[in-house]
Amino acid sequence: MRRIQQLSPRLANQIAAGEVVERPASVVKELLENSIDAGANRIDIEVENGGVRLIRIRDNGSGIPKDDLALALSRHATSKISALEDLEAVGSLGFRGEALASISSVSRLTLTANSEGQDTGWKVFAEGRDMETISSPAPHPIGTTVEMRDLFFNTPARRKFLRTEKTEFGHLEEVVKRLALSHYDVGFTLRHNQRTIHQLRPAKTRVEMERRIATLLSPQLMDNAVVIDMESPDLRLWGWVGLPTFSRAQADLQYFYVNGRAVKDRLIAHAIRQAYRDVLYGGRHPVFVLYLELDPAQVDVNVHPTKHEIRFRDGRSVHNFLFSTLNKALASVRPEDQLSPAT
Ligand code: ADP
Ligand code: MG
Repeated sequence: MRRIQQLSPRLANQIAAGEVVERPASVVKELLENSIDAGANRIDIEVENGGVRLIRIRDNGSGIPKDDLALALSRHATSKISALEDLEAVGSLGFRGEALASISSVSRLTLTANSEGQDTGWKVFAEGRDMETISSPAPHPIGTTVEMRDLFFNTPARRKFLRTEKTEFGHLEEVVKRLALSHYDVGFTLRHNQRTIHQLRPAKTRVEMERRIATLLSPQLMDNAVVIDMESPDLRLWGWVGLPTFSRAQADLQYFYVNGRAVKDRLIAHAIRQAYRDVLYGGRHPVFVLYLELDPAQVDVNVHPTKHEIRFRDGRSVHNFLFSTLNKALASVRPEDQLSPAT
């Protein structure tokens, strides 16, 4: 038997990284969420080799003051909550203070930022088993740039699970789409291996929002969708649902957000399936982009580190509201629209 010893900070972070950093796409998710939490309305994403070799995300958010830079890289350090009560109604996408520490333990990560009231930007990275931070002045406009290189270079077992460049980039692009469809006021650019893949201006009007959806999902969707906007005293559901005739062989165009956060939830999936049951052919999948809004105190997002799972206080009333709203919307569609399935 070996004696008990304390894990080094890097090793502890690498173990924690197992939960949130699965692949380049998970890094992009965490970094984009940080940019959005910082109030950025412009985010540029540059990726090489499916995100394995390089992910560089630059935002024009609030930035990070020089004295906080080292803390930003350390575990359990966050500016987003400070007490348990805050967790009861968390309004930010992040709150665990783990992402940057985790990512920088399994890659070469540098953080460069400038914030209001400083005359220059600063750059920081973590080194060695204790992840001591090293910082130096570096010019940067107000905002933050995170540069991650060589994901899993020091954790070969993890690297083995990475797939082809194409597959990894596909996952990464999906993460960008998912966030772009819930933050219309933010402009995004995505470049892969020096090629521009997406260039999305901030969308303010409904027409601009629909244009963004069409660009990202399908040019035909808006001609084949019903607009939803329904409010009860406690809940609001709005967005677009595809006509039954616009169904898909795969469940690949389904976006559901709860208070701006993309979620996967069995109760929600069930309510939607029920609503489409009588109008959809067996084995087909509906298309939807839907936003559910409710009092944040009514949802627990602290179920899993990736925060894709949630728990509703009153799941039954959420289910009923979803089902009845969608059911009514679909019933209002002319019956001749529902005769034959599309491709
Ligand atoms: P969390 O998002 O859960 O707080 P992170 O490890 O993702 O934890 O980030 C740690 C902290 O670093 C954040 O709380 C925030 O204060 C700061 N931070 C990270 N990214 C940015 C960014 N792009 N702009 C401004 N601040 C940031
Ligand atoms: Mg975060």
